[in-house]
Amino acid sequence: MKSSLYPAQELRRRTQAWALKLKVNPRVVRVQVMRRKWGSCSSAGTVTLATDLLDLDPRFQDYVIVHELLHLRLPTHGRVFKALMSAHIPDWRVMEDRGYR
Ligand SMILES: [Zn+2]
Repeated sequence: MKSSLYPAQELRRRTQAWALKLKVNPRVVRVQVMRRKWGSCSSAGTVTLATDLLDLDPRFQDYVIVHELLHLRLPTHGRVFKALMSAHIPDWRVMEDRGYR
C-alpha cells in the first residue's frame, strides 16, 4: 500500500529518520515556502525545509535534509562537515552542482 501520509508529513518523517541516524535532535521540523533556499537550520534547533523539495528526487531531499541536520552539530561547512556529508551522502557534490541554493 502506498504511504497515506501527506507529502510534507512524509518529508518530516524522512527528516526524523535521518536525525536518528545522525544522532541529532531537531526541536522542530517545518516544511514551508522558501524562495531562496532549500532549507535552513536555526541555532535554536528548528530545521526548515522548502516545499519545493516535495516535487524533487528523494535523493536530493536527503542531501538537503542531511546538510541542514548536520548544522545542528556544525555551524560551518568545514572539513568535518564535508567528511560527514561524504559519509552519508556519497554523491553530495553532484547534488551541490545541481543547485544548492
Ligand atoms: Zn549549510
